[in-house]
Amino acid sequence: MLVDSHMHVNFNGFALNDIIKYLDTNRIDCCWLLTWEEVQPGKWPYQHLPVEEVFDAYSKHPDRIVPMYAPDPTMDDAAAKLESWHQRGIRGCGELKTTLNWDSPRLRGLLAAAAKLGVPVVFHMEEARSILTPQSTAIRDRLVCAAARLATRTHLFKSRLERLTFPGYLLDFASLERALNDFPELNFIGHGLMFWKYISADAPQRRESLPTGPVTGEGLIWRLFREHPNLYADISGDSGFNALARDPANAKVFLSTFADRILYGTDNVMAGQRQFLDSLGLAPRTYSRLYGENACSLVRVPPRGAPP
Ligand SMILES: [Zn+2]
Repeated sequence: MLVDSHMHVNFNGFALNDIIKYLDTNRIDCCWLLTWEEVQPGKWPYQHLPVEEVFDAYSKHPDRIVPMYAPDPTMDDAAAKLESWHQRGIRGCGELKTTLNWDSPRLRGLLAAAAKLGVPVVFHMEEARSILTPQSTAIRDRLVCAAARLATRTHLFKSRLERLTFPGYLLDFASLERALNDFPELNFIGHGLMFWKYISADAPQRRESLPTGPVTGEGLIWRLFREHPNLYADISGDSGFNALARDPANAKVFLSTFADRILYGTDNVMAGQRQFLDSLGLAPRTYSRLYGENACSLVRVPPRGAPP
């Protein structure tokens, strides 16, 4: 079983047909499809990826799409929303992207609901930083993150840009660790620029989101993996790929050490992840876990051709 555990529909050039074509071309059995929901997004780049579109994709391809939904935890009824969508077939809580801290009672309420339902949480960590963003909401809403970053480098939009502080998403490892301790039965799947930066010991000193060059020693996430069996990670996006590709020898040790808790995924970013992983010469059992077994251990995947 081959699973891409981190994808979005209508994101980064992938409509539903493109996703199915991608799965077929690469002989991938199914993908996890994740939402992005902030009811009051800030001025930083944001693309609303609603649960309705995820569910529609799942309805059309129930044997290829594993639907997930992370309600914005700032909503009073976030836990109830997760529960009611779970009844309809949602199988996980993701992608959780929120400026709240893990200690927030509202976020804790959502985690408690996910724990009760027995579904995993896919979360995105990103550091606070100063960013330039278009002043016009209309322009901003049309830009996805990557395009917005590109826009800041062009003169075209310069006069219409404003500088603001992006507060970060779930940007604190200390409160993450408290949540890992307090919800031992809940499986947390880490992802994002900040999460993967901390594969290396020099992360606190590196200002870049995507540090390059060899890993300088075990970063914080190694200890978290060792001490918290409910912590998993997906290698998706530029963040996961960069963290591994910056130091292939280190990647081999990391993936082998935590072979039962790392998930293959792309986040709609086709960076050559499979070619890279295949070039590492990992043990066959590590590959089977990474490419699908771990994902299937977290979420029951229906056999191909099964009714919804
Ligand atoms: Zn994502």
